[in-house]
Amino acid sequence: MKIYFNCLCCHQKVYLESQVKSRYHLSASWGKVFLINCNYCQVQNQINVNMVRAETSKNKVPIATTLSGCLIGVLAGPLGIIIGIGIGAVSGGAVFYNDHQEVENFNNNVI
Ligand SMILES: [Zn+2]
Repeated sequence: MKIYFNCLCCHQKVYLESQVKSRYHLSASWGKVFLINCNYCQVQNQINVNMVRAETSKNKVPIATTLSGCLIGVLAGPLGIIIGIGIGAVSGGAVFYNDHQEVENFNNNVI
């Protein structure tokens, strides 16, 4: 899961360097309102935690799935590739599902 806000000036998505799972935790560590510079236009934004949104980092999952599948395949031969991709798909799917739930929780819980 990645969290971001849209810059008030240039409207680009600016990702936050934080692994928090909820707005409550974000506000506990960063404050309910915090100042942050946009990476694109350098304008300082005053951001309320409720303006921060989460999105899945799902683009990482297929890569990890494929890599783990191939790795098992290399170790175990052609049959291992098929089994490995199956295992990778199942574990990758589980990661995606949890990530998706976390994103929904984050975006639905306004503080
Ligand atoms: Zn900006």
